[in-house]
Amino acid sequence: MSDQYIEKAEETILHTYDRYPVVFDRGEGVHLYDVDGKEYLDFAAGIAVQSLGYHNREYTQALKDQIDKLTHISNLYYTVPMMEAAQKVVKASGLSRVFFTNSGAEAIEGALKAAKKYAYERDGKADHEIIAMEHSFHGRTMGALSVTGNEKYQAPFRPLIPGVRFAVYNDLESVKAQITEKTCAIILETVQGEGGIRPATEDFLKGVKALCREHDLLLILDEIQCGMGRTGWMFAWQEYGVEPDIMTCAKAIGCGVPVGAFVLGERAAKGSLKSGDHGTTYGGNPFACAAVSKVFDLYEKEHILENVRTVGAYLTERLDALVEKYDFLKERRGKGMIQGLEVTGRSAGEIAARALSNGLVVITAGGNVLRFVPPLVITKEDVDCMVERLERSF
Ligand SMILES: *Cc1c(COP(=O)(O)O)cnc(C)c1O
Repeated sequence: MSDQYIEKAEETILHTYDRYPVVFDRGEGVHLYDVDGKEYLDFAAGIAVQSLGYHNREYTQALKDQIDKLTHISNLYYTVPMMEAAQKVVKASGLSRVFFTNSGAEAIEGALKAAKKYAYERDGKADHEIIAMEHSFHGRTMGALSVTGNEKYQAPFRPLIPGVRFAVYNDLESVKAQITEKTCAIILETVQGEGGIRPATEDFLKGVKALCREHDLLLILDEIQCGMGRTGWMFAWQEYGVEPDIMTCAKAIGCGVPVGAFVLGERAAKGSLKSGDHGTTYGGNPFACAAVSKVFDLYEKEHILENVRTVGAYLTERLDALVEKYDFLKERRGKGMIQGLEVTGRSAGEIAARALSNGLVVITAGGNVLRFVPPLVITKEDVDCMVERLERSF
C-alpha cells in the first residue's frame, strides 16, 4: 500500500525533500504506525514538535472544543485563547510581550524586524547590521535564510538581506570582531540544532550578553528547537541565567498545530514594533492559541521538565556508553532530550534509514550526526528499546 501512496505523492508534491519511504498513518503515545500497520518507536517527534507524544487525550479534546467554538477571526479583534496563551508564555519566560506567528521562520522574521526597528528608533536611521553564527539554522524564508550560516542553503538565493555578518559559535572573539557601529543585534540558537546539536558554552553566552549590554545590541535567542522543555528547562537560556531581549519559539509550542512566537523583553518591547509595523492574518488565531495554552497546562500537569531531567540523564548515559563501545561514534553532544551522536567513517543518514526499517524513527543533523529529539514523555524503557533498535541498525 505504501508504495502506491508514495508514487502518487511524488507525482504531485514538489520534490524539495528526500523523504524516507514510509507513509505514517497515526500515532499513540511515543509510537507511530504506518498505513500497513507497522509500529515504530519515535525518537524524532516530528522534528522536536510532539513533546506530549501522540494522541494526548486532553490536548486533542481542547482542540476539538475550540474548533466547535471559533477557529479564526483575525487580529482585528481580541479572543480569550490568545489572551490566555500570551499570559502563559510571558509567565514561563519572564519576558514582556508576545507576537504569535504560524511558523518558526516567521518568528525569526519578526525578531529581525523588531531588532531593526529598535535601532531605527534609537538612531533615527536605518541600514543596521546583524551578527549571526556559522552552522546556524533559523529557517527558509528570505530573512531567516539570511541569518542561516549554511552556504548550500543560501547560495542560490542571493542577494539576501544585506548587513548580516557571521561569527563562529562558541568563539567570543570572533563575535567581537564582527561588531561595527551599525550592529543592532546578535542572533543565535541557545543549542544549535540543525547544525549538529551544539550547546552554547556558558562563557560564550554570558560573554555575548555582556557585549550586547556594552554596545546596546539586542540579543535574539532562537529557542525554536531547544526551547519548550527540551533541555530540562522551559527555555534553554534559563539554565544559563542569560535572558534574551527577544526569544523565538515554534515547534513544540503548538505540539502539532502550526504556531510560533517571538517574545520581547521590556526594553525591546518598548522601543521597537509599534502599531502598524507588523502583522499576520492567521498568526495567533484562537485555534492555534488554544493549542499553545493547553500545551503549557499539560507541561505542568504531566511534569514534563522533571521527566526530561531524569529520563534525559538516562538517555545521556546510554548514548555515552554507545560512544565508548563503537569506534565510528565520535562523540555525544547535547542536553536532556536534544542529543546528537557524531558519526565518522559511516553515513548517519544510512543508519537512520536502517533504523526506520527496524522500527525506530531517528533523524540526522548537519555534520553527519544522528539526532535524538524524542517526545518529552519517553520513559527509561523507551530509551532501552531505542538503544536496542539502534544497535541492530549499526
Ligand atoms: C525548525 C527551526 C526553525 C524554523 O522553523 P520553521 O517552523 O520550520 O519555519 C528556526 N530555528 C530553529 C532553531 C529551528 O530548529
